[in-house]
Amino acid sequence: MSPVVKLRNVHKYFGALKVLEGVSFEVERGGVAAVIGQSGSGKSTALRCINALETIQDGTIEVCGHAVGDPKLDRRALRQDVGIVFQSYNLFPHLTVEQNIMLAPTCVKSIGKSEARDLARDVLAQVGLSEKAQQYPEQLSGGQQQRVAIARSLAMQPKLMLFDEVTSALDPQLTGEVLKVMEDLARGGMTMILVTHEMAFARKVASQVIYMHKGQVWETGPGSMLDAPKTPELANFVGSGL
Ligand code: ADP
Ligand code: MG
Repeated sequence: MSPVVKLRNVHKYFGALKVLEGVSFEVERGGVAAVIGQSGSGKSTALRCINALETIQDGTIEVCGHAVGDPKLDRRALRQDVGIVFQSYNLFPHLTVEQNIMLAPTCVKSIGKSEARDLARDVLAQVGLSEKAQQYPEQLSGGQQQRVAIARSLAMQPKLMLFDEVTSALDPQLTGEVLKVMEDLARGGMTMILVTHEMAFARKVASQVIYMHKGQVWETGPGSMLDAPKTPELANFVGSGL
């Protein structure tokens, strides 16, 4: 079975700034990859390249059968297969939770209203927020809003989910409830790549940890690699408590 995501020797520049330098990794179906590393090491850029939000200068990226670097790439088809959630929730404030979730399925996939409402119900149950369907985002906590943002992505029935530091803006208790949702998703077999500073979560849930340093995959392995770093850079990073 071919991997869901495959990066081969990816190079990415912003002008003269080299941000990704020969990045290669794969994620199998049902795999959970945790990308860790210092600020500025290229984690977000790598995720954005996977979803074709950034173009690359060299190498190849294959995602769910799409050749992402191909000029003929069907971005719309790619983005139906790939959900992405950021640190900021970006919910529409004037729409209810349910309307926020129904928007993409009805507009992008042309699914009928009642089917979209059923979908919204299912994904809200999945993130434990069934009772909030008729509320507006501002009536929810940050953690609840982030769970709605995850539910909104799930409503598109993606084959791959990308998470970029989705708990960084939340206090520890709210972080816990969002991590729980992500752990449930992982256990349910969702293929995921998450950029995170939550080392305990990476250790426990990730099938693969990818430590990025200066735009390169510096070390990669199972969660246990965090307990026995091979490079001084990872030892330092883990030791810094980040
Ligand atoms: P991380 O997510 O690991 O903190 P990023 O991928 O956001 O790192 O950034 C990697 C490097 O690329 C940083 O030096 C950052 O300043 C730079 N960078 C990110 N996005 C842009 C952009 N749109 N234009 C120019 N430089 C950028
Ligand atoms: Mg980042």
